Amino acid sequence: MKSPPFEYARAASIEEACAFIAQHGDDAKLIAGGQSLVPMMAFRLLRPGWLIDIDAIPALKYVAIETDAARMGACTRQCDIQHDDVLAAAVPLLRQALAHVGHVQTRNRGTAGGSLVHADPSAELPLTAQVLEARMVLRSHSDTRTLPAASFFEGAMTTAVRPDECVVEIQWPVWREKKTGSAFTEISRRHGDFAIVAAAAQVAVDDDARCTRAAFGIGGAAPTPAAFPDLAKRLVGTRLEKETLRDVAHDAAATLEPGSDIHASAGYRRHLAGVLAARVLQSAYDAARAAR
Ligand SMILES: Cc1cc2nc3c(=O)[nH]c(=O)nc-3n(C[C@H](O)[C@H](O)[C@H](O)COP(=O)(O)OP(=O)(O)OC[C@H]3O[C@@H](n4cnc5c(N)ncnc54)[C@H](O)[C@@H]3O)c2cc1C
Repeated sequence: MKSPPFEYARAASIEEACAFIAQHGDDAKLIAGGQSLVPMMAFRLLRPGWLIDIDAIPALKYVAIETDAARMGACTRQCDIQHDDVLAAAVPLLRQALAHVGHVQTRNRGTAGGSLVHADPSAELPLTAQVLEARMVLRSHSDTRTLPAASFFEGAMTTAVRPDECVVEIQWPVWREKKTGSAFTEISRRHGDFAIVAAAAQVAVDDDARCTRAAFGIGGAAPTPAAFPDLAKRLVGTRLEKETLRDVAHDAAATLEPGSDIHASAGYRRHLAGVLAARVLQSAYDAARAAR
């Protein structure tokens, strides 16, 4: 299918992009890698009158690793994130998550910001953002604001980004604990397909193998990816004994209200959520214990 007709403008700077979207309002859409927007236009699910291309703005493509956070420009490509060894050492979950995102070809074009704003409930980067409590910096022609992931994702394919705003930066917290491990897993029909259910976790332990910090979340089983900071606290001080792990994963799955579709029933999704949550927590814990 072909897209409906549209006007096209390529912005040279963030300021120019913000001026364009302020001028055209709801009738304009930013385009970054085009890996979600173009198919949606081809299926006529979206009919923007204007596409404002932000992919050539140098100020939206960078990775800067600081003490407590790895900052990246919103148009940093998924392939560049995946292959950045320094970033993988600081925020290992990003590389683990991206291994499940689409295909080499889609990661070569797709951007971090585009994936977060597209906000597919099964998408891997939004789940990673929820688990790590990433922060998104949003710019409009008149304002800059920063939103934590918990208030950024509002529903399926819906975020708090206003039509006149551009995500300019994503800040991924860096855990400074020496013995930290993380893990990402998902069940999908074929590798590269969107997940039926996905789970991600990060765990830190002390020299005695006791958990000092934990975070985990589940994607694909609710309108937005879900993180469980309160349940994760129950793991602190434990060695993630089997029963504790089973109870925490079960309680997390029980809070979810998954939908049914041709790929999986709600019951199967909830079951997977519990199984995968326990599995990633165990893997993250094992990785943390093995870390030097
Ligand atoms: C065959 C195929 C398989 C795929 N499989 C997966 C998968 O398994 N997992 C997965 O997560 N994704 C998957 N995707 C989607 C892909 O990862 C996209 O790259 C990603 O969802 C969107 O990134 P993009 O840069 O291409 O954004 P675009 O398509 O350009 O934009 C997506 C949306 O974000 C908005 N937007 C983009 N950048 C900004 C910004 N900086 N500020 C404000 N709004 C912005 C656009 O207006 C649009 O609404 C797949 C895509 C294809 C074609």
